[in-house]
Amino acid sequence: MSLLVSGRIATLAGDTGFGWVEALAVAGGRVLAAGRLADVEALAGPGWTRWRLGDGFAVMPAMTDAHMHLTMLARARDQVDLSAADELEGYLALLRVAHQRRLAAGDSTGWLLGHGWSPAHIGGWPTAAMLESAAPGRPIALWAHDHHSRWASPAALAMAGIGRGTADPAGGVIQRDDAGEPIGVLSEAAAGLLNEVVPAATADELEAPLAALAADLAALGVVACHDPNELDVDAGIGVAQELYRRLAEAGRLPLRVHASIREHHLEAAIDAGLRSGEGVAAAMGAGPRARRLAERYRMGWLKLFADGSLGSRSAALLEPYSDAAHRPPTGGPAGMFVARREELAGHLGRAAAAGIAGQVHAIGDAAVRLALDLLAEQPRLALRPRIEHAQLVHPDDVPRFGQLGVAASIQPIHLRSDAAMARRSWGARAELAFPIAGALAGGALVPFGTDAPVEPIDPWPGIAVAMCRRDPLRLTDQPLGRQHAIDLAAALRSACLHPALVAGEEDRGRLVAGHRADMLVVPSRPFDNSADAAVIAQARPLATLLDGEPVFRAPEFDP
Ligand SMILES: [Zn+2]
Repeated sequence: MSLLVSGRIATLAGDTGFGWVEALAVAGGRVLAAGRLADVEALAGPGWTRWRLGDGFAVMPAMTDAHMHLTMLARARDQVDLSAADELEGYLALLRVAHQRRLAAGDSTGWLLGHGWSPAHIGGWPTAAMLESAAPGRPIALWAHDHHSRWASPAALAMAGIGRGTADPAGGVIQRDDAGEPIGVLSEAAAGLLNEVVPAATADELEAPLAALAADLAALGVVACHDPNELDVDAGIGVAQELYRRLAEAGRLPLRVHASIREHHLEAAIDAGLRSGEGVAAAMGAGPRARRLAERYRMGWLKLFADGSLGSRSAALLEPYSDAAHRPPTGGPAGMFVARREELAGHLGRAAAAGIAGQVHAIGDAAVRLALDLLAEQPRLALRPRIEHAQLVHPDDVPRFGQLGVAASIQPIHLRSDAAMARRSWGARAELAFPIAGALAGGALVPFGTDAPVEPIDPWPGIAVAMCRRDPLRLTDQPLGRQHAIDLAAALRSACLHPALVAGEEDRGRLVAGHRADMLVVPSRPFDNSADAAVIAQARPLATLLDGEPVFRAPEFDP
């Protein structure tokens, strides 16, 4: 459709501020012009749709989630979500219900998969025996909230051949009791010991949930995302290609996706000729509409891991954990690297030679430093090199992001859940965490994401957290690292513009002439009360457009 919008339009043009204009013309999926109403009006024809928005509305670019596990989320839709409970009894009650429901359906030995538990809620690691009591005999594998540990039942451990004699794999820890017996929790690389026995998802199973998820995202104002892993299982890159092709053919892909691969798929990706930024599902002989939709699915990065996580006490630090004496961190007093430097450098080099850019997960300050060193050595490709999370960064390393052109892919919402734990584990260093303002001041791109399913898919609370540095709905919380707070205009650039630039999409993330018309109509309250974090955390679009076409419209929106 060709559209003329008049009202308060935040174009995000320029380096600061909202870049307000009073009118916007959209045709052919792109912004034709943005500026004064009289000038823009002159371009519109008689058949154009006209939205005259009152003072209560604003228009802004649509958002891209730069770190969302899309296929994992789609898969999780029919799994047990333990985040609904917050203590052991609650977890076991949910599992008992799921087990009974399957028994009633005639399934007594099928896998029960789930996610969302936290050792912080149990006061330590849970055990396989606890699962056996809730669902006797059933193979069960449950990802922790941070996806760095997996809780397994005795049947699951037996199927994977994990016992007292099983050695810890490189970069992983099989949690054990004092007698050396595995307790049922597998951390970091050890979690992968279950991959071969947990059934892989198929395109059939994922199609409907992924389409439903894309619709939910559109309703929140998110029209694109970067998925750091292809599928959460070793199903192979072909499954995802088939999945997105089907969705595109059915006209059910209201979402742009850049999907990264993990190192075990690197050779297959190189053989298939996949290069960062290029469409992977486009050349499939379908009609023009399907081809256009399929182009929305593109190859992302090679995703590697340098260390573990704060929650699993495996983030690699330059100095030991502050509470290491009374609660031993995983892997050693300063946490652990999950891969050797030469290994990571080898993968990055092989990928870069084939046109695939790198992204490295690094949470602790030692891991961030290593990742910066490694990415600095790589040639520049279509997609920017990036570090995922960058939670704790040594002050000497903050300016290096901008200097080296490495993006700091930070999920500000993690600050809400992690602040207390960071203070306990990292002491005074915690105030240096999530260095958003510092990285931006150094000229770095800081694309925001949610890391869903680790956090909910809603991007708005994260924007608010980046501004207030605490839970936006808990006024009494002490802000963490207040010096790294940013204003709403900067936060919106990180939510809309920086993810596009990191992905080499120079024509997205702003509402200026020539850019793709990916845009939102939102209530104007967040802009009027930009000091009120709670208002921003609860903002919701009234309409979401992708390539100038509505993919979501609230029933009450009638311009
Ligand atoms: Zn993640």
